[in-house]
Amino acid sequence: VHPDPEAGARVAADDRAHVFHSWSAQAKIAPMPIAAASGSYFWDFEGKRYLDFASQLVNVNIGYQHPKLVAAIQEAAARQCTIAPSFADESRSEAARMIAERAPEGLEKVFFTNGGAEATENAMRMARLHTGRHKILTTYRSYHGATAGSILATGEPRRWASEPGAPGFVHFWGPYPFRSAFHSTSVEEECERALQHLRDTVMVEGPQTIAAVMLETVVGTNGILVPPDGYLAGVREICDEHGILYIADEVMAGFGRCGEWFAVDRWGVTPDLVCFAKGVNSGYVPLGGVILSEAVAATFAERPYPGGLTYSGHPLACASAVASMRIFEEEGILEHVRTMADTVIGPRLAQLAADHPSVGEARGLGMFWALDLVKDTTTHEALVPYNASGDAAAPMAELMAACKAEGLWPMTHFNRLHVVPPCTTSAEELTEGLDILDRALAVADRYVTG
Ligand code: PLP
Repeated sequence: VHPDPEAGARVAADDRAHVFHSWSAQAKIAPMPIAAASGSYFWDFEGKRYLDFASQLVNVNIGYQHPKLVAAIQEAAARQCTIAPSFADESRSEAARMIAERAPEGLEKVFFTNGGAEATENAMRMARLHTGRHKILTTYRSYHGATAGSILATGEPRRWASEPGAPGFVHFWGPYPFRSAFHSTSVEEECERALQHLRDTVMVEGPQTIAAVMLETVVGTNGILVPPDGYLAGVREICDEHGILYIADEVMAGFGRCGEWFAVDRWGVTPDLVCFAKGVNSGYVPLGGVILSEAVAATFAERPYPGGLTYSGHPLACASAVASMRIFEEEGILEHVRTMADTVIGPRLAQLAADHPSVGEARGLGMFWALDLVKDTTTHEALVPYNASGDAAAPMAELMAACKAEGLWPMTHFNRLHVVPPCTTSAEELTEGLDILDRALAVADRYVTG
């Protein structure tokens, strides 16, 4: 990439004059102009290269500009750029069949959306209409999207500005052994107590009022919280006992991120509805959707489903999903993810946890990892307070700056640093990034007081 600071300045100037950015105080941001991206790297207009340990918003699972995926989109564009959802389209039919073939047994039909929020929104609508009940149970420390309903289902600060919103959204605590809401002293105890807490929540809310429990299979943005073995099966059991649907939000965890097509495959559970987006085609063209069980789909066999989107099952998006699933198989990407987790990322992050007092816990699976950073190694007091911003968040900002200075782009959220590279990242690239992280963590270590 040839440096072209003038072009970069132009991009930045137009951006500041006319682009209104998500989640931001518009006067306080300076979005970095991006000149190019390829594989696991992107470049700014000064020619500086960054190794992407964030996969943008944890969505570029296949890496940037995969030549076969780009070619598939070009071919699809030449063939058929757009067609309304009411027609049957070749790319859409094939994408739906391929997704259903890879989804757990009994999930056969796909409702396509443009992204994750529309997926959770429609899954909740389906669950309410199927059960005739209104409440949706989700966990604290979850993110389900930023539309009217999905933001209320969300269990973290991004919900606050949309409150009071609509009634019928109930939050409960999921398992998080490192910061247990149940004062557990082991993972087994955490699993047991978290399930009992859900049982109690269902009891006092009234099972006959609850349409669905919606869970991120592995909680993403809020900490890469891997459920203890037995937790998801326990949730399935509680739902079955009361005729409540189990919605798996796999928008971030699905399509390779956890080394499986679907993260629930790790634990062998079958939800009633599965939400996907991001990794399905790595965001080369916006796409998401809901996979429906036969029973939920049957509810809308004779009665119309009251939901739709102009671009539901967009041909370019679906063609890129088909190509992406094929590439994943041809290149053994799921196997690669599992191998990298076992041989490179897992062992090295465990070493970082041993070497750096600021790393309270390293956890994750696949290409989906977090360092839970602490100020106090005994009490686990977080390195920065929950929802910290400005001065209070300075230690995390300094850590991020130290990574960026050396050309590494990780993801940070509150007191955590997430290692979530493209699923195609090589062992050498991972080691390059983890070496930088090792050096950068010295910045966080300086804030450790106990
Ligand atoms: N659900 C989960 C688990 C997510 O991580 C996200 C986005 O990060 C969403 C839903 C919302 O997806 P989108 O931003 O595509 O609307």
